[in-house]
Amino acid sequence: MSDKGNKDWFSKFKKPLIVAGPCSAESEEQVLATAKELAKIDHVQIFRAGIWKPRTRPNSFEGVGAIGLQWLKKVKEQTGLLTAVEAANAQHVEECLKAGIDIIWIGARTTVNPFTVQEIADALKGVDITVMVKNPINPDLQLWLGAIERLNNVGIEKVIAVHRGFSSLSQTKFRNSPNWQIPIELKIQMPHIPVICDPSHIAGKHELLLSVAQEALDLDMDGLMIETHIDPINAKSDAQQQITPLKLKELLSQLVYRSPVSGNVEFSNRLEQLRKRIDKIDLDIVDILAARMQLVEEIGLYKKENNVTILQLERWNTVLKNILVQSENLGMQKEFSKKLYQLVHEESIRIQTEIMNQELHKK
Ligand code: PEP
Ligand code: MN
Repeated sequence: MSDKGNKDWFSKFKKPLIVAGPCSAESEEQVLATAKELAKIDHVQIFRAGIWKPRTRPNSFEGVGAIGLQWLKKVKEQTGLLTAVEAANAQHVEECLKAGIDIIWIGARTTVNPFTVQEIADALKGVDITVMVKNPINPDLQLWLGAIERLNNVGIEKVIAVHRGFSSLSQTKFRNSPNWQIPIELKIQMPHIPVICDPSHIAGKHELLLSVAQEALDLDMDGLMIETHIDPINAKSDAQQQITPLKLKELLSQLVYRSPVSGNVEFSNRLEQLRKRIDKIDLDIVDILAARMQLVEEIGLYKKENNVTILQLERWNTVLKNILVQSENLGMQKEFSKKLYQLVHEESIRIQTEIMNQELHKK
């Protein structure tokens, strides 16, 4: 049986799916105390804990290792929560499978490396298990898709993608900047893959969790993975971004849950009307663009006949300046208009280059 092409297997979870638990398993007491509190919260269905921790520098806490798997077994027995662990190589996979871990996740530092992803996929061949795949550290959709495909190729269809933000050169308020366009594009290209968001690693600090989580839900993400620790201040890793189970409960109650559809007829009718107007404008935009490109072609021919260069920097600067002034007057983001017009200019140059390269007297 193949689950490819549908999300049926995912519908056993309540939506939004909440994955919670500490960044790292530190002791049996910490793991069990956290899990018991989490199990009382509606929608928390998966307990996560890192056992082998990928740390940026050595000599920081690198996880408790395989002994932690036994603590997770107890979590499952005592709370009924499903358990999830990060595996970064084939040996981790073997140990997780031996210990009966329900879900394996591939971390951001692993998704970047197709060799390692393949090694993990090979170790999972023939196993009926759910795998969560975090986005790679760098904003490369292809790597993320590739990791999912490697799992699909060995028969793993129950895959959940996790958006945990991307490292960026510029200083932002986030630890890892969200780049929502990438998970949205993943949803478009792989509609059968649920996508959840990890606000903890995006935010880097607990104060930002609520706004990031809300944005994820507003964009119809299928769930959230939130790091939760019974004593966050004393956590051995990612202390600043972890919250107590009580705080998680509060956060979940503050979120506004939206639905992709509404049962309200008035809403649906009004939405329909507005969409019709948008559709009309979109068609007008294409008509106008086609008319513009027609003129570009005429100018191209004229330049060719008169041996004039295609690129006219001064003219382009004037066009762009006019566009930006008008955009600002109309309350539009200048950056958006600039990007759009750069694309229009690129296409105009392409059309004129094609004309220049055509046989001189071709009719
Ligand atoms: C984690 O979830 O604890 C973790 C290390 O995440 P990431 O791979 O997203 O950095
Ligand atoms: Mn962490």
